[in-house]
Amino acid sequence: MIKVIAFDLDDTLWEVGPVIRRAESILAHWLEKEVPEYRYEPAKLMPIRETLLREDPTLGHRLTAFRQRLIEISLAPHLDQESAASCAEGAMEIFLTARNDVEFFEGALETLRELTGSFQLGALTNGNADINRLGLNSCFSFAFSAEQVGAPKPAPDLFQAALAHTGCEPAQMVYVGDDAIKDVDAANQVGLHTVWLRPKSKPVEGESSPDEIINDIRELPGAIKKLVGR
Ligand SMILES: [Mg+2]
Repeated sequence: MIKVIAFDLDDTLWEVGPVIRRAESILAHWLEKEVPEYRYEPAKLMPIRETLLREDPTLGHRLTAFRQRLIEISLAPHLDQESAASCAEGAMEIFLTARNDVEFFEGALETLRELTGSFQLGALTNGNADINRLGLNSCFSFAFSAEQVGAPKPAPDLFQAALAHTGCEPAQMVYVGDDAIKDVDAANQVGLHTVWLRPKSKPVEGESSPDEIINDIRELPGAIKKLVGR
């Protein structure tokens, strides 16, 4: 019996590319106003990124901490340490607000609301989307990020956190995601049921098969019904 449906967020409930590009641009403008002599140019920050990652590989999934540190270091030529730290903190607040201002796929919110009637819903994400900022806390009763659990998908940690939180068996949970490897293969490995929202542009196949494949999030209730009926 299926009790819980857990969701990937980015590219499953909205397209993430445009969101990040817009958030980067809002961030750049904000920083330019705060520190007029400074230019936020992500491409030029690559060497600092690489150094930071070498020093602390966990920053690879601690995206908020990583970006904040990156901004702080790049501000160093223009501000004293304390001002750079507080400016980077303010900048992250601006970025996170923009990063969580998403345009949901058509029918995504209606689909979630429909499913909340029969299932417990939750979010498991490698990114820094935040269900509170997204206004999704009325649909989702739990949410875990890679930053919180300490390892990104395809590691099992996020799925295990959801199982521990809900107290259900793997076979009682369905995971819905767009990435055949990080979402479908990884959740299958833990014993969850899986629904693959097949991406339009990059349908890279995984090693294992999802229980159901959908091409549009609005097909999810039908796919869940099929799964439940098996
Ligand atoms: Mg995704």
